[in-house]
Parts: sequence; structure tokens; C-alpha cells
Amino acid sequence: MRIDGKQIAADIRAEVTAAASGLVARGVRPGLAVILLGDNPASVSYVTAKERACVECGIASFPVRLPADTSEQTLLETISRLNEDPRVHGILVQLPLPRGFDEQKIIRSIAPEKDVDGFHPISLGKLLLGQDTFVPCTPAGIMELLRRSGVETAGKRAVVVGRSNIVGKPMALLLARKGADATVTLCHTATKDLGAVTREADILIVAAGHPHTIVAGQVKPGAVVIDVGVNRIPDATKKAGFRLVGDVDFEAIEPVASLITPVPGGVGPMTIAMLLRNTVKAAAATLPA
Ligand code: NAP
Repeated sequence: MRIDGKQIAADIRAEVTAAASGLVARGVRPGLAVILLGDNPASVSYVTAKERACVECGIASFPVRLPADTSEQTLLETISRLNEDPRVHGILVQLPLPRGFDEQKIIRSIAPEKDVDGFHPISLGKLLLGQDTFVPCTPAGIMELLRRSGVETAGKRAVVVGRSNIVGKPMALLLARKGADATVTLCHTATKDLGAVTREADILIVAAGHPHTIVAGQVKPGAVVIDVGVNRIPDATKKAGFRLVGDVDFEAIEPVASLITPVPGGVGPMTIAMLLRNTVKAAAATLPA
């Protein structure tokens, strides 16, 4: 059966809308600044979707568009201004940045209390320590997908394919932490016999960035499969000239899995929903106690 990420994300967006309107009634309109450098088509479409979602939920959107050849100094000054702006509760720098930028330096310049993407070392450190923080949106969204689909994680074998700082590593931490209580294996390109490892998974999360990273025979019958990948495949029958596919061979694995997320319409909408939720959380934290 497919997990309907669009529907679950819509439910969360309704909750966010209610929470945002509650904050407005108390004098605080949540605000999100999204900074985009350059005009990478995928980044433009992600940023546009995030800004539209803000407006639909009653969150003020502060779009910041800068040319690709912006200097590091200008970008740092822009972030510093937003750090000081009381109308802005969340700041997001769309990644990847154009070549030449020190992404970690830019992320560190965001005030941790406005780090709604959860990529700041302070946010990631708190996540490691099991403290309340902004959790990176994609893995946070996957935990919500599992919870709202009735998937029990405690005592289950979870396998995460991919060890990026924004998806794989925080995903493994979230699944292993107290309360979630899964037994987690984290795989990467040096993992030997990937299929033998993934076949042990009750819950398989794939964030590798390549189509067909996981194929038939690499999934245990009845497993829950979460496909994080977003890959553009040339397709002349589509107006855009491409279509999106995930990292797993969906057609072959859907009949084997008990639950599976489609691409698109699975994890993607959840990432945006969690960004909105983090923005409302950041705004709520500014209310007097
Ligand atoms: P990334 O930074 O490129 O990391 C990919 C990870 O996968 C690396 O750790 C790499 O291992 C591992 N990997 C790659 N091929 C593998 C293979 N054949 N076997 C085992 N491990 C393999 O990617 P990311 O940022 O985590 O993103 C992963 C995918 O998720 C991308 O398609 C991205 O577009 C998508 N994504 C989607 C959302 C969403 O909202 N839906 C959000 C974020 C990302 P090494 O470390 O050894 O290189």
C-alpha cells in the first residue's frame, strides 16, 4: 500500500495554519525568509513551493533573491540583517550554494533560534544529545509519515541508505533515539553487499540520490520502504522534458513492501510541511513566557 505523503502533509499544514493564526491573535505573525542565490531550476522550484506554502498557512514570506556571483560578504551581511529582523522567525538558505561558497560557514552565520532547516551545528548537536531543537525537515517529516501511518519503530530493524548531514545521519539518530527505539544500520558507498543489509530491514529508508539504488530482491517482504530520492529522468513525453523518480525501483518493490512512499507525493510534501512547522515553533518561542 502507498503512503500518501500529500494527504499527511495537508493534515500537518492544517495544524500549522491553526497554530499560526493562534500566534497572530497573540500579536506575532510567523515569518520565514528564504534566500536563493542564482537560478538553478530545481532550487527555484523548491523555493517557490516553500514560499507559496508559507502564504497558504498564514506565515509571512520574505523572499531574498541574490545573483549567483554574490560575494560571501554580501550573503553574510544579508543573513546578519535577517538575524536582527524581529518579523523574521526562520531563515533558510537554499542549498546547494553556487560553487566557491563555504556552506558550513554560511549555515553557522544563521542565528540558531532561526535555524528552521535544522542544519546549524548547534541544532545538530542538540539532536545528537536528545535535546529539543529544530530537527532537519526531511528526516523529521519521515518520522511523522511513519507515526501517522501507524508504523511501530520500537524494536524494529531500520536500515538507512545514505549518510548525508541533512538526511541520512539525522534520520539514523531519530530512529535510534529513546521513544523511537529502532535498531539502526547506516549504509553508504563502502557498505559491502548492500542488498544483504537492506533485506534485514523492517523499515528501509533510501536517500542515496541515484535511481534504482534499491531493486527487487533487496527488500524483505512486508517491509516499510521510504524513498527519499528525487531524480530527474529525461522524458520526451513530459512538457518539462523530464520526470521525477526516487531511489528505489518502485514498480518492482511496491508489491513486496507492506507500505511504500511514491515519488513524487511521498517524502517531498512532508519536508515543506515540517519547515512550516519549525517556523511556527520559532515564532512561538518569541512569545513572552
Ligand atoms: P547526498 O548528500 O548526495 O548523499 C548521498 C548518500 O548516499 C551518501 O552518503 C552516499 O554515500 C550514499 N550513497 C550513494 N549511492 C549509494 C549506493 N549505491 N549505495 C549506498 N550508499 C550510497 O544526498 P542527500 O542530500 O542525502 O539526498 C539524497 C537524495 O534525497 C537525493 O536524491 C535528494 O534529491 C533527495 N532529497 C529529497 C528531499 C525531499 O524533500 N524529498 C530532501 C533532501 C534530499 P557516501 O557518503 O559513501 O558517498
